[in-house]
Amino acid sequence: MLSLPEYEVLAAQAHGHLCAGQILGLRMALYGVSLLGLSDPAGADRKRLITFVEIDRCATDAIPIVTGCRLGKRALKFRDFGKMAATFCDLQENRAVRVVARESAKQAAREMYPELPTRNQQQMSAYREMADARMFDVQWVQVSIGPEDLPGGKMPTVICDECGEGVSFARHLIRDGRTLCRGCAGERYYRPL
Ligand SMILES: [Zn+2]
Ligand SMILES: [Zn+2]
Repeated sequence: MLSLPEYEVLAAQAHGHLCAGQILGLRMALYGVSLLGLSDPAGADRKRLITFVEIDRCATDAIPIVTGCRLGKRALKFRDFGKMAATFCDLQENRAVRVVARESAKQAAREMYPELPTRNQQQMSAYREMADARMFDVQWVQVSIGPEDLPGGKMPTVICDECGEGVSFARHLIRDGRTLCRGCAGERYYRPL
């Protein structure tokens, strides 16, 4: 594992700038993997870790810097709950911990660094040194991760009977005997013009 300043350099490169969200995300991931007892999440332990993130903000970009979990490797899962939270799952020990940023940490940052001019600067300084228990709440949780969710899983692609598009990883539905993609089953986020 690297030091926080070393992770900050990598996060700034990947994200395009260094911000309070990067530091929060790094701290969240460092806390999560330490609670799981993983000493080399992006290296020797990389095959045993899956991370769920619950928001698409700055902090989300920082989490894979520590965990090594990437969307394209199926080790990073996005559940859009709009919460500054992430769940770190150890597949080997079959346990998972959900780490949630406490709303009160923002106020604590203001109180720690009132002399700094912007909230981002206050939070950047505070989030480097604030105790884990003041920044985060922790829940041990159970996450069901099926074979269709695992990194490296190979499953046949099926063809939707309605639109003809291919659907991987068993994300299709069977309705009245027809194979449907989730879009054709009514979950479309877009409308064909
Ligand atoms: Zn940012
Ligand atoms: Zn379809």
